[in-house]
Amino acid sequence: MAHYNVAVLAGDGIGPEVTEAARHVLDAAVDRLDGFTLSYDALSVGAGEYLENGDPLPESTVEKLKTYHAILLGAMGLPDVRWPNGVEMTPQVDIREKLDLYQGVRPIKLYHPWHSPLRVPKGKDIDFVLVRENCEGLFSDRLVPRDGQADFATDTMKVTRAGAERICRAAFEIAKGRRQKVTLVDKANVLQSMAFFRAVFDEVAEEYPDIETDRVYVDAMALFLVQDPYQFDVIVTENMFGDILSDQAAGIVGGMGMAPSADIGDNYAVFQPSHGTAPTIAGQGKANPIATILSAALMLRWLDREQGEAGAQLIENAVAKALKNYDNRTVDLGGSHSTSDITDIIISHL
Ligand code: ATP
Repeated sequence: MAHYNVAVLAGDGIGPEVTEAARHVLDAAVDRLDGFTLSYDALSVGAGEYLENGDPLPESTVEKLKTYHAILLGAMGLPDVRWPNGVEMTPQVDIREKLDLYQGVRPIKLYHPWHSPLRVPKGKDIDFVLVRENCEGLFSDRLVPRDGQADFATDTMKVTRAGAERICRAAFEIAKGRRQKVTLVDKANVLQSMAFFRAVFDEVAEEYPDIETDRVYVDAMALFLVQDPYQFDVIVTENMFGDILSDQAAGIVGGMGMAPSADIGDNYAVFQPSHGTAPTIAGQGKANPIATILSAALMLRWLDREQGEAGAQLIENAVAKALKNYDNRTVDLGGSHSTSDITDIIISHL
């Protein structure tokens, strides 16, 4: 009997709605598995927690998170809740750094050709994984205190050998189980940090002679994601480029509501949709829960290679079957289904 404890951080905005939907699907999937159970504990983190207790991510909560098998997260932060220096609170980013969740794994898959704003040629598929470095890169200085009086501000693109090596290796490992191709995205023609990242990528690539590699500048990648996204299998890049490109990648498969993610480290992992709190639609039943439901499937796969893997496949197949019917769409995809309508339809296909 395998039993796993999951911490649920619903967060702010649409976070509570989408995590509730994912829990319904998880419960229904787990019911169909053999000797596999989940239990959940809700923990308060985010802008709401800051307004109540003065800290969006209390240290005691971070310590508690380490006692769970996995963490399911909704979305965090609200545009009006900011630190005195003007930046938004981002506990979902802080968690990645505190738990050293260096792999931002973001599967991008087109479930119905009409979900894409692109004219997808017959026989072509959008199906790749973007692997974002989560703990350094251009985000690395974001918490360094600044002199509010200075008349300039800088952010450092930090690339360490250890950081670059482990994220490149993670990308190659993912490619082994897929179509055996890794594309590095950088700006090695201009930035020395990126030339270094490329040199480390090249070294790691030598450990994987069977895997095809490609190197693309980030500006060209913005173009290729629109012109020819079908060519990609696994894409690996630094933190900020990954942040931007994962939104663009979500855009070509139907939007943020379709993009799941897993933030994985050597000891802990957080599963959450790639989207934010979407405050303008919060509380209206309009949120698309599919990104969170697919993130929950990634969680099952990460938790357990046998029954967990079976559960992940159940959920992914149910989503695919539900979305084959173009009528099954939430508002963001141009449909009229509510969050709970689409959740029930997915459960009916399990
Ligand atoms: P963050 O800065 O936290 O990444 P953001 O401000 O970039 O967040 P999101 O909250 O991701 O933005 O939302 C971007 C757009 O996508 C908004 O128009 C939002 O309403 C829409 N959106 C995001 N997630 C969903 C969802 N699950 N269902 C429907 N629409 C969504």
